[in-house]
Amino acid sequence: MFNKETTTVGFIGLGNMGSGMTKNLQLNGFKLVVNDVRKEAAETLIANGAEWAATPAEVAAKSDVVITMLPTPKHVDMVSMGENGILSGIKDGGYWVDMSTSVPEVTERARKTSEGRNLNIMDAPVSGMSVGAANGKLQIFAGGTAEQFATMKNVFEAMGDPQRILHVGKAGAGYAVKLAINQLWFSHLVATAEVLSVGVKAGVDLEVLRQSLIASPANSNFVENDVLSVLKHGDYDEGFAIALACKDLGLHTDLARAVGVPVELSAQVEQIFRRAKAQYGDLAGEMTPMKLYEDLIGQTLRVE
Ligand code: NAD
Repeated sequence: MFNKETTTVGFIGLGNMGSGMTKNLQLNGFKLVVNDVRKEAAETLIANGAEWAATPAEVAAKSDVVITMLPTPKHVDMVSMGENGILSGIKDGGYWVDMSTSVPEVTERARKTSEGRNLNIMDAPVSGMSVGAANGKLQIFAGGTAEQFATMKNVFEAMGDPQRILHVGKAGAGYAVKLAINQLWFSHLVATAEVLSVGVKAGVDLEVLRQSLIASPANSNFVENDVLSVLKHGDYDEGFAIALACKDLGLHTDLARAVGVPVELSAQVEQIFRRAKAQYGDLAGEMTPMKLYEDLIGQTLRVE
């Protein structure tokens, strides 16, 4: 098992998620080697003792485990298999754990490229938003062998909630679980925005409507908790850009296609998210599709 006294963690991708995750690895005593295309993203980590590496290969050469937290499969491909990528620097027996939301093909390609080498390549995407990354309470869904999961346990626990760090199956299973979670959550978002808009236009008080849903068989975590970010605070969660939400919905549709399951509803939700992205911009928050409905009915959905 990796422990903080003897393990160096390499981390590539210090954005909304990676910045909080590295902060917690450091607070938990792990030595860090970091890289990002934006060096300024590493300033605080370096001031607190992290080492900067110029390339992903250098990160890998200096680490026992390399973690990637990158926007899209294309970025993960480039950072792992491109010039000066992780695979050209990683030591024999080393670990590379991709915690980005991605698809099984990415790590599968890397596994094929490095066939014959003794490498441990896992996927361990997360839920819990940037706030969960910042306070070390992420949910983690790991794909890999039981032995690899056990080896990574301490590292995962430095970033996540121990009760919600799950070994969900073999390599690739973590990505599949994470895409299912996002697809369902985004579907809840669109469905909730629709019924709230219709109810309000029909003259029902918004909070009375929400409480009625909560008291009914139609209740969901989204209606009870998550929607309040918009309804109470007008916060559409810019910590997760709608461009990345659209990427995740597209990846779920790709996965569905790859396994031969038609997903009419998921495809519809993806199109609604893409409309919101076109209308409000790539960097708008993941909950901006609710704004589409607010614009349609000509009023914001807010409660006291
Ligand atoms: P982000 O865009 O904020 O951060 C990505 C970081 O990667 C940036 O700092 C960027 O400079 C860096 N980067 C890009 N290309 C690089 C390269 N070639 N080499 C080195 N660094 C590079 O994204 P994020 O919100 O942190 O999301 C990261 C991943 O986590 C995504 O796959 C996303 O879907 C997933 N995720 C995000 C959230 C959230 O709430 N933000 C929640 C769960 C999962």
